[in-house]
Amino acid sequence: MSIDTHAHITKEFYTDIPQVLSRAIQNGVHKIIIPGTNLSDSNPINRYKDPLLKYAVGIHPNEVSDNIDKKQIFDLITEDTIAIGECGIDLSQRQDKKVQEAIFRIQIEIAIERNLPIIIHTRNALEETYDILSSYYHQGNENIGVIHSADGSIEILNKLIDIGFYLSFNGISTYKSAEKIRDIIREINIHKILVETDAPFLNPKGSKTKQNESANIKYVIDNINNIKGISNTEEITENNAKLLFRL
Ligand SMILES: [Zn+2]
Repeated sequence: MSIDTHAHITKEFYTDIPQVLSRAIQNGVHKIIIPGTNLSDSNPINRYKDPLLKYAVGIHPNEVSDNIDKKQIFDLITEDTIAIGECGIDLSQRQDKKVQEAIFRIQIEIAIERNLPIIIHTRNALEETYDILSSYYHQGNENIGVIHSADGSIEILNKLIDIGFYLSFNGISTYKSAEKIRDIIREINIHKILVETDAPFLNPKGSKTKQNESANIKYVIDNINNIKGISNTEEITENNAKLLFRL
């Protein structure tokens, strides 16, 4: 059994959600965590409701703007909200670091105030992201959050683990060009790893579906088993996800 800790199974991307969910169940997926990316998809009224799906509330760094305030995000949190995010810093497309940082800090504060785990999106900004997170979270913390689609300096990634973060890996780890990510997976303790599909993006090698979906988590799990030379990635990462998201 497994948990897909990051997938965008939303009406924006899928016209056949019931089928996507039944294929996921057939492949042993019993929970799918859907991050929020903006005020609209974080709003409970816009969600597809199914017992398999668990939702986070968050503003993606590529969706931030000056006029988003803390109350707007806070007001979307219900008793069903299982995490804050995805939030963070992404300097791959936009350079408005100040705005991104302000909205990121608001979301960290909410996660702390509501005692919720936090889902981090960081791209071309690992050091900046670490600097911000380490001003709130300290060495010895556990089950604070996850660095989704982890990549970059192993030294900084290890420091993030030290302040309570898991690293999450997806179909990228199956791509020929991703030797660096496989090195990271080899190096990191399996008890600090989560698996995700990031569906509909990042279709893993071997996938038979045109568009990525949660059922394809098995290719990510198989790949981590191969990289680490183990056979229990599925159960360990499932347990890690249960600990972090309190499932
Ligand atoms: Zn995402």
